[in-house]
Amino acid sequence: MAIFDPNFMTLYQRYPVYLTNSLSGKKEKFETLTPGFVGMYVCGPTVYNYVHLGNTRTFLSFDVIFRYLRFIGYKVRYVRNITDVGHLENDADEGEDKIGKKARLEQLEPMEIVKRYTEDFHTVMRQFNILPPSIEPSATGHIVEQINITKKLLDLGLAYEVNGSVYFDVKKYNQSHHYGILSGRNIEDLIESGRTLDSQDEKRDKIDFALWKKASPQHIMRWPSPWGEGFPGWHIECTVMSTKYLGETFDIHGGGMDLKFPHHECEIAQATSANGKSPVHYWIHSNMLTVNGQKMSKSLGNSFLPSELFSGNHKLLEKGYSPMTVRFFMLQSHYSSTLDFSNEALNAAEKGFKKLSNALSSVKKMRLTKNSSNPELEKSLLHQIDRCFINMSDDFNTAKTLAVLFEMASQINTLAGAKEIILSENVFEKFKSTYLSMMEDVLGLTEESGGNHELLNGTVNVLINLRKKVRADKNFALSDRIRDDLKAIGIQLKDGKDGEMSYEIES
Ligand code: AMP
Ligand code: ZN
Repeated sequence: MAIFDPNFMTLYQRYPVYLTNSLSGKKEKFETLTPGFVGMYVCGPTVYNYVHLGNTRTFLSFDVIFRYLRFIGYKVRYVRNITDVGHLENDADEGEDKIGKKARLEQLEPMEIVKRYTEDFHTVMRQFNILPPSIEPSATGHIVEQINITKKLLDLGLAYEVNGSVYFDVKKYNQSHHYGILSGRNIEDLIESGRTLDSQDEKRDKIDFALWKKASPQHIMRWPSPWGEGFPGWHIECTVMSTKYLGETFDIHGGGMDLKFPHHECEIAQATSANGKSPVHYWIHSNMLTVNGQKMSKSLGNSFLPSELFSGNHKLLEKGYSPMTVRFFMLQSHYSSTLDFSNEALNAAEKGFKKLSNALSSVKKMRLTKNSSNPELEKSLLHQIDRCFINMSDDFNTAKTLAVLFEMASQINTLAGAKEIILSENVFEKFKSTYLSMMEDVLGLTEESGGNHELLNGTVNVLINLRKKVRADKNFALSDRIRDDLKAIGIQLKDGKDGEMSYEIES
């Protein structure tokens, strides 16, 4: 017979979560819409290129939030989309579609581009031990829904059609709502700044944004719509996919800081107009990975690929680092702070992670010698356990949690070196399992066989250097053979800029 325990508390009741809501700019107590359940949406990658290390930081930040919420007892539905259409080169609805452009340049079908870079994205996520979301919808799979909501916004008089394209009327929306509620931008300032509309422009106002764009004759990605052949705008896809799978109002919406405006501001305007309510309770924005203080980005040319980081084949890198070292490096700072990349920081992270990882392997082998009370030690261990949860529940503070895990690792070393371990079994098991689960389940830091990484890395680098040499000698047949033979055993070589090469292990 199941016994109902009136004193039973879930971990999230015992350690309630407080998080910084970008909407209010304040730390707020996390109250879910449905008790025990969390709906979380995070903007996924635009799959027109390899994901760089900066993108990875954002997905890692939300991976830890997902893992922790699950661990403390919530049932989480985590939706992270794939942007495979609609993201133009420029935020002002100008330029080519990023995927369409790549397809044109490489003379491939857009869906070949999408498949290649989605697979790369998944490989990178696995390498960093970033869990897959519960649902991973794509924009091209939701064209009908995007057309329907555009129709609805037209019917409501909050959008207008010009020459086969449909735009959202920001000024009209702002008459009854606050456009700028999330980003703190002011509509008057937005109207003042930037370039003015010219005769080529179809928009009534430059602050308006596209819900649907007419496809020019050379545009490859196109679908029929009530306004002729075209393709959806970028912001509408996230409104459609978040509300379809999580409801018209849901708990958490996340993404990188750079998406706050215009992307997330536009999402709020569209969803609030279409559904008559604000879509999200808590907005979370993670901060940027920088290089010498500048945001890492493909367009600035200061980005590097995870595979380059693992192999060390990049001019900014002194050597290669393992995925877990990089994961640890990123978790050492809070998700809302910028994190600057440097070789020194990664070298320090390598040492730090080794300490925690050694303790992880010791704790798995550790056995109690005698089950007997040891009040002073037990008090200290219980305090460490408590602080792990307190820190994680305080806005997912991984940096402070790692500091406690270092104290626990020292404690583990002391216990492992002692002749005997005398403790009450209950506290001993709790201590062991907290260290294990905080490391592996919550922070996603697992043991890795360092020797193998270095050996494999060294071996592949020998082959990469050999391939560079045979290419310089114009022996392309041998160069291709090295690439193809490595591919056959699951190692994919990637040709970078300036003749650089890196590799990725396919899983
Ligand atoms: P994209 O593929 O460009 O749509 O970007 C995917 C995600 O990566 C978005 O949430 C961006 O905010 C995020 N992102 C882009 N650059 C960086 C960076 N340097 N550091 C952290 N996150 C980034
Ligand atoms: Zn989005």
